[in-house]
Amino acid sequence: MKRTSFRYIFGPVYSWRLGMSLGVDPISQSKKICNFNCIYCQLGETDVLQTVREVFVPTRRIIAEIRSLGPGGIDYITFSGRGEPTLAKNLGEMIREVRKIRPEKIAVITNSTLIARADVQKDLMLADFVLAKLDAHNAKDFAAVNRGIADVVFADVVKGLRAFRKKFKGKLGLQIMFVKHNMVHAKDIAEIAQKIHPDEVQLNTPLRPCATKPLTKKEMNDIKRYYSSFHALCVYDVPSKPYHPFDETATASRHGSFQK
Ligand code: SF4
Repeated sequence: MKRTSFRYIFGPVYSWRLGMSLGVDPISQSKKICNFNCIYCQLGETDVLQTVREVFVPTRRIIAEIRSLGPGGIDYITFSGRGEPTLAKNLGEMIREVRKIRPEKIAVITNSTLIARADVQKDLMLADFVLAKLDAHNAKDFAAVNRGIADVVFADVVKGLRAFRKKFKGKLGLQIMFVKHNMVHAKDIAEIAQKIHPDEVQLNTPLRPCATKPLTKKEMNDIKRYYSSFHALCVYDVPSKPYHPFDETATASRHGSFQK
């Protein structure tokens, strides 16, 4: 596969949830910009805690990089990267433009914090697959695990997820990252998830290097028992596959250490 350098796209990487995934980073800044500072973030501490949407990269620049790719070899084009993709005000425009030039399905990985907003819902509605984070069952755990900006309110996030689910015709996955802090509340989180009605639940634990230790396979299997009423996937159950990013530096800066 031809190697080249990119500023805004990364991968493809093999994702246990998406298959071969080409990443698009609509933020693409050297600093991590997010309204969360999750204890397990593979990108380290958040540099800029921000909840205001803005255009970080003009859409045409991202499209120019995607246009330079050849056909095939990708299952999903996935918006994610160094921070929260819904902070990009031009996310919807980017999705529309990518659709015009590529046949692959489009996914967005979001931390769910802005999903109650009408403009964010409108953008996410354009995706085929939205992978939305839910790591807590109450405001206390939400603050302890995700360490978000004060104006991100747990109850509003759950309300936003429920409202979005009712409107969204695509596939909604709830991503739950389990660490020591929230594993004891796996059942409580499952009860919140029941109210959201996702198409699938992704039970994850941080296997890539970060500040928090992953749970063991046995601990995750114990957690999985609470999710028997869902279509639930566990990170330990899906075998990984080798992959070869177009640009290893661009990929490592968004994906942490991908060569494990
Ligand atoms: S939401 Fe994602 S990018 Fe933001 S701090 Fe959490 S894991 Fe990192």
